[in-house]
Amino acid sequence: MALIVQKYGGTSVGSPERMKNVVRRVAKFKALGHQIVVVVSAMSGETNRLIGLAKEMQAQPDPRELDMVISTGEQVTIGLVSMGLMQEGLKAKSYTGAQVKIITDSAFTKARILSIDEQNIRADLANGYVVVVAGFQGIDSKGNITTLGRGGSDTTGVAIAAALHADECQIYTDVDGVYTTDPRLVPEARRLKTITFEEMLEMASLGSKVLQIRAVEFAGKYRVKLRVLSSFDEEGDGTLITFEENDKMEQAIISGIAFNRDEAKITVRGVPDKPGIAYQILGSISEANIDVDMIIQNVGVDGTTDFSFTVHRNEFDKAMDILKNQVQSHIGARDVVGDNKTAKVSVVGVGMRSHVGIASKMFRTLAEEGINIQMISTSEIKISVVIHEKYLELAVRVLHKAFDLDQEPA
Ligand code: ADP
Ligand code: ASP
Ligand code: MG
Repeated sequence: MALIVQKYGGTSVGSPERMKNVVRRVAKFKALGHQIVVVVSAMSGETNRLIGLAKEMQAQPDPRELDMVISTGEQVTIGLVSMGLMQEGLKAKSYTGAQVKIITDSAFTKARILSIDEQNIRADLANGYVVVVAGFQGIDSKGNITTLGRGGSDTTGVAIAAALHADECQIYTDVDGVYTTDPRLVPEARRLKTITFEEMLEMASLGSKVLQIRAVEFAGKYRVKLRVLSSFDEEGDGTLITFEENDKMEQAIISGIAFNRDEAKITVRGVPDKPGIAYQILGSISEANIDVDMIIQNVGVDGTTDFSFTVHRNEFDKAMDILKNQVQSHIGARDVVGDNKTAKVSVVGVGMRSHVGIASKMFRTLAEEGINIQMISTSEIKISVVIHEKYLELAVRVLHKAFDLDQEPA
């Protein structure tokens, strides 16, 4: 007997018919003697619909009230899936995040899970129930409903698996695993049988939304066995996230290509080149709870320098506003310019550690297509470039081919 957490995404619970499909799978696992916790997302499109409604009421929806609204999508699916399980003759019980006591911080719309009280779930499982938990939501210490950021049901699934010391956390979605790149953009993309935790962390943080990054972080921290699978296939092993770099001798140097269309670039020009400037620029941005991604500062010339960084496109206007109205004159910068038509493409692979020439191959491949690189950043296992958004698809396709990702590794 194993304890398994199964998370089903929006498409997998997109209609009553699809929910019945979920029910059948859960019943199958239950019949094998396993204990099952099901974590579900809202029906596909529902969270977007709710955000749309909120925006009709208030141009910039109040974050607390927005979470009140968008957390309701998951409450619908937990009830419906539980009903389906009962209809199939199983004992089932649904829980919202607050009912479980998934305690988060108070960062509305992007809250972090602080703790999970797993006592009730354990008791229900011991009594033969399938427990159905709402993904994406929690409650802060003051009792406010919070949500975990888009794609956050993955994180609920992994966090519950960690709290219960589950044998496995299975993420069921609309693709049958993690691919070399998004198969919707590159049809030649291949499913990876395994991917290391480190690589998955990079892929997720660089834009591969197949898993929310915090879910991968949780899996790493608590050593949760994590697998991505298709909710539409009866069979298949999906992709296992591994903690060892086994078989890496035979693996490609690059495991995957991630991309992010939501990048916006900001440059503060003519900044005095002296201590404390980076802090004054980025401190004000972080106080506004805006996440900063790539950061580049030029070598100072004539006592001044340029300072560039990227933020999520949704936060571009807010960040520009802060810099122009609060920071620019305060630090004596010449001006602040921005471009929200940028995108980021990254190649990821642990094999980079032992191979040279990956960066030059990447840059040559892009140059041959006439794609200008605006920013570069590297780590031990990834190289990212910021380019104009209109070249994104082309860049991903040519890099996928250049690094032989469309071929099975020898
Ligand atoms: P769910 O609703 O089940 O959480 P998501 O839409 O959040 O599903 O994530 C699955 C999607 O992630 C796929 O449909 C695919 O388009 C996209 N995706 C992006 N990068 C990858 C990748 N490297 N491998 C597989 N899927 C990817
Ligand atoms: N329903 C939420 C969203 O659309 C959470 C999730 O699906 O993981 O982002
Ligand atoms: Mg998702």
